[in-house]
Amino acid sequence: MASLKQYETDVAIVGGGGAGIAAGIEARDAGARAIAFEKDAEPGGAAIISGGGCLIVGSPLQKRHGVHDTPDLAFSDWIAWGGPSADEVWARYYIEHSLHDLYFWAENLGAKWVDLKFQEGNAVLRWTRAESNGLGLMTHLIAGFRQKGGEVVTDTEITTLTRENGRIAGFEGRNTKTGEPVSVRSKVVVMTTGGFNSSLDMVLQASPTLGNERILEGSGRNSTGTGHKMVRQAGGYLTHLDHIWFYVYATPDYRDPAQRRGLVFRLVPGNIWINQQGRRFHNEAMSGGNSASPALMAQSPRHAWAIMDTPMTANMEIADPYYRDGDRVARDKVIELLNTSPFIRKADTLAELAKKMDVDAAAFLGTLERYNKACTQGLEKEPDFGKPLKSSKPFDTPPFYAVQMFPLARKNFGGVKTDLQCRVLDKHFEPIPGLYAAGELCGMAGGHINGRAGLEGTMLGPSVFSGRVAGGWAAHEAGHGSGFIGKPNRG
Ligand SMILES: Cc1cc2nc3c(=O)[nH]c(=O)nc-3n(C[C@H](O)[C@H](O)[C@H](O)COP(=O)(O)OP(=O)(O)OC[C@H]3O[C@@H](n4cnc5c(N)ncnc54)[C@H](O)[C@@H]3O)c2cc1C
Repeated sequence: MASLKQYETDVAIVGGGGAGIAAGIEARDAGARAIAFEKDAEPGGAAIISGGGCLIVGSPLQKRHGVHDTPDLAFSDWIAWGGPSADEVWARYYIEHSLHDLYFWAENLGAKWVDLKFQEGNAVLRWTRAESNGLGLMTHLIAGFRQKGGEVVTDTEITTLTRENGRIAGFEGRNTKTGEPVSVRSKVVVMTTGGFNSSLDMVLQASPTLGNERILEGSGRNSTGTGHKMVRQAGGYLTHLDHIWFYVYATPDYRDPAQRRGLVFRLVPGNIWINQQGRRFHNEAMSGGNSASPALMAQSPRHAWAIMDTPMTANMEIADPYYRDGDRVARDKVIELLNTSPFIRKADTLAELAKKMDVDAAAFLGTLERYNKACTQGLEKEPDFGKPLKSSKPFDTPPFYAVQMFPLARKNFGGVKTDLQCRVLDKHFEPIPGLYAAGELCGMAGGHINGRAGLEGTMLGPSVFSGRVAGGWAAHEAGHGSGFIGKPNRG
C-alpha cells in the first residue's frame, strides 16, 4: 500500500499558479514557512500560458508612451465597462495598488514590462505586457518564491480541506503519479486553484441556459473548479458564477476525444465571420469579450465560420502546445489542422465552400462580393459594419477555408466571496477561520471584481495582486508580519 506523505507548515497553498506563487512570496517575505501544492508537473497554471498582460495605471511605460492615466480615470472605465455587478471596493483597491504592488514589485523580482496595447473599453493604453508574456512573468515569480525558501510540491492534487476545533487546519490529497496519499497540517490555508472554464459541466451548471448549443472549454488544463467544490463544502459563499468571459475565435479541438476543448486561432489578418445564413454580423476588428462574444451568442444557430483564403493563413497560430515547436509555430501541424479537422471546410471556389458549409450560397457569395469590392476600391472601412480595411485583402486565392467557431469559456468573473484581506466569507459574510482564497477562484479577486465585462489585463493582474494580499494576511494570522499593506498610488 502507498505510504502517507505528511507535511507541516505555517501557510499551505493549494495551487501554484499566478495567485498561489504570489501568496507564497508574500508569506515568505513576512517570515512564514510556505508550501504550494500543485496538481501539475510544473507550477504556473493558466498564468504561465497567459498573454502576460496586466492592467496597470500610472506606469513609467505609460509615461514613456505619452499616456496620461490616473486611478480615477481607470476606475470610471472599469465600472462603466463591468456594469453594476463590478465590486467597486476591490476594483479601486487593485487599481490604486497596480503601480507599486504589481508593476514595481514584479520588476524587483526580475520581470520586465515591455509594451502597451489598446483594449476595448479603456480610454487610454494600459494593458501592460510582461516580456515573454505569462511565461516570462511567472518564470521570475516562481524563481523568486523558491529563492526565498518557498517550496512547490508538484504532481499533487488536493481534494479535501480538514478542520480542527472549528478552524481549517490543512488538507488532504494524493500524488497524481504514484497515488500516494498526502496530508498537510497548516496554521492557515490559502486556496488558489484558478477558475472552472475547463469543466463544461461546471460552466453549464453556472449558466444552464447556454446548454442547448456547443460551448468550448477554454482555460488552463486544471481549471476545473476543484477548489470551488472544496470551499463550498467548507461553508464558503460563492457568488456571480454565471459571469463567464467568452471569446469567439476558437474551434473545437478535434483531437480531444470529447471535442469539448477549444483551440484559439490568431494571426489571420482580414478573416471575416459568416453566420449560418451566409451573412456577416459584426465588425471583426472588434474581437473582444464585450463586443464579439455577445454578437456571436446572438446568432441562430450559435456559431459562425471564419473565412480565410490561403495567403491569410500564412502566419496562422494555434494557441496550444501541440501546435508549437519551442517558441516557433509548428507549421506542419497548423496545416494538418486545416486539412483534417471536421470543423474546417476547404474548397477551391467560394461557391463550393458555401455548399460545404451548408449556408445560403446566394447570401454568402453576395456578402463576399461586396466585401471584396470594398477592398479593391481601397476604402478605409467596409460599408456594412465599418471594419477598417487596412490589414485586409480580397478573398481571391484558393484554396479557401471556413473555420467553424463556437463561444469559448475563458475566464471566470465570479467565484468565492472574500473580504479585503482575502479571508473566505461564509453565507453570513463572516470569515471562516483559517481559510483564505485569491485569484480566479474568487472571480480574480474578492468574488466579482470585474463585473460582467473586463477591460483586459484585469484577470492576471488582480489574481497576482490578490494572491499577495492573501499571502500577507495568512502569514499574519500564522504569527508572521503585519499583514499586507502595500503602497497605494493616489496621484
Ligand atoms: C490562454 C490564456 C491567456 C490569458 N491571458 C491573459 C492576459 O493576457 N491577461 C489577463 O489579465 N488574463 C489572462 N488570462 C487569465 C489569467 O491567466 C488567469 O485569470 C490567472 O492566471 C488566474 O490565476 P490563478 O492563480 O487564480 O489561477 P491559475 O494561474 O490557473 O493557477 C491555478 C493553479 O492551481 C492548480 N490546481 C487546480 N486545482 C488543484 C488542486 N485540486 N490541487 C492542486 N493544484 C490545483 C492548477 O494546476 C494551477 O496551476 C489568460 C488565460 C488563458 C487561459
